[in-house]
Amino acid sequence: MNTVEQHKQEKHPLDVVDDVYDYADEELSFEEIEERAGGGEWERLKWAGMYAQKQEGYFMIRTKVPGGKLTPEQAEVIGEVTDDLAVAPEEYGGEEQNELWGDAYLDITTRQDIQKHWIRVEDVPEMWDRYDEVGLTTVQGCGDSARNVLGCPAAGLDDHECFNAQPVIEAVSDFFTENREYANLPRKFKITITGCAHDCAQSQINDVGLVPAKKEIDGESLYGFHARVGGGLSDGPRMGSELDVFIRPEDAVEFCRAVAQTFKELGDRNNRGVCRMRYLVEQMGAEKFEEAVRDRCTIDLPTGGQNLTVGYQSDHVGVHEQKQDGLNYVGFNVIAGRMGGDEFAEAARAAETYGTEDASVRLATDQNFLITHIPDENVDDLLAEPFAQEYSPDPGAFSRGAVGCTGNEFCNYAIIETKKRTKRWARELDDRIDVPDDIESIRMHMSGCSASCAQPQIADIGFRGETVKLEDEDGDDIVEGMDFGLGGSLGADNEFLDWVESAVPADAVIPALEQLFEAYSADRDDGEEFYEWCRGVDNGQLRSIMQGADAPVARGVAHGD
Ligand code: SF4
Repeated sequence: MNTVEQHKQEKHPLDVVDDVYDYADEELSFEEIEERAGGGEWERLKWAGMYAQKQEGYFMIRTKVPGGKLTPEQAEVIGEVTDDLAVAPEEYGGEEQNELWGDAYLDITTRQDIQKHWIRVEDVPEMWDRYDEVGLTTVQGCGDSARNVLGCPAAGLDDHECFNAQPVIEAVSDFFTENREYANLPRKFKITITGCAHDCAQSQINDVGLVPAKKEIDGESLYGFHARVGGGLSDGPRMGSELDVFIRPEDAVEFCRAVAQTFKELGDRNNRGVCRMRYLVEQMGAEKFEEAVRDRCTIDLPTGGQNLTVGYQSDHVGVHEQKQDGLNYVGFNVIAGRMGGDEFAEAARAAETYGTEDASVRLATDQNFLITHIPDENVDDLLAEPFAQEYSPDPGAFSRGAVGCTGNEFCNYAIIETKKRTKRWARELDDRIDVPDDIESIRMHMSGCSASCAQPQIADIGFRGETVKLEDEDGDDIVEGMDFGLGGSLGADNEFLDWVESAVPADAVIPALEQLFEAYSADRDDGEEFYEWCRGVDNGQLRSIMQGADAPVARGVAHGD
């Protein structure tokens, strides 16, 4: 048994939530917490949504937002709590801790969570009290259990949705949150559920992905879900496998429970390197895995029906008409997902001011957010608000597609800085590169290490942090750099990107991208997306282009070396 498993056996990880109140009450230091509860407490605190920051004495706290959907009141509380409690101490720069964002900022994540930094344990009960009043939680934001359940941020609003799956998302989330039987799984367990034909909820890269389907049962045509299982990124990325099942919306909780039960019983608890559910699915094969789920399911699952997914939509930025007459939702662009707590609260108040009583603030998997239910006559006023100038719904293509993980500012695993770099590069690339007029977004994702919090494998351009050793006449120098990948996408033509070049010094990346886009603009077929063009060009030639060689582009050769 590995040490994390031992820590989970010593004390049920959900019990840590009550203990946090004692640690806060007694204002215990990190050493005192460790003395009282042992070293395993740092692992168990993840079940409270708390990650020890690399700056000792402070936590990152993750708030779960099922389907990304917040009431304006909830969003306002999140913004205000950030402003009041996520405050960098003077010894780390205080209000000037971060050159771009100051302090008291929040991060919207690719799993529709909110992360805050610089939280002290003594402030956690106050945060939880304020959260309780509006129905928010951080419980199981992290740890080996069901994480935040993803969904389409435009659920219930968009014309191309088959049905609104938000109630199913909330039912599944409610089932798993604080459920002691399923709170200790072999590893984290990620679920996504959508009723939309455009799969922005990323079913292919989650442990469980439910997507819309239709089936004739007893003469009745019913909407429900098809299931994909065993998808994921990081080391050993894998697209989910389809199971031959049809799941009625009312059976979705039981289906997800049966999958969790299968994982709980059969998953590997020994080797954390290979214990995500995708390894189990790979090892068993989809058919045997389906059999195991059916054996553990209390309902008889019909075989699959008609798949209704037609494509993949990577963002909701811009002003969009809702299917409800006269109403709109507006997708705002938050480069790298980071914004001030005060700005988020301001956006929440704007939702209340300009929206109808159904208005909401919704977090998207591309780290942006939406404000919904804005009547036609209020759209211009909403767009004139100060926060809308910084987080424009009409950004440049690189800004629109920019995603960044936490990076070495706070993350113990990071090799490079990511948030500031993502924002600066996105803005600079928008200034320097003319992308073809029909290309709205270039998905550029930056992870600070080989983990995939920024999902680089599904991006047009993906980076993962590396150190680079440079040799010059002054001797050796170690600088920040990155592995450089091209050509990823989800959807019907899903494919992970190819890591085309390794350990590129950070300073060389923008010139390399300028060369690539020059070649792409000159050579692309009508309507060809950047990732499609990259897939059609040999990696050796992509490398030559990046290095400035001006040989003509040879098309139609095999992707890869
Ligand atoms: Fe940290 Fe790596 Fe995840 Fe970035 S990708 S947040 S550096 S673990």
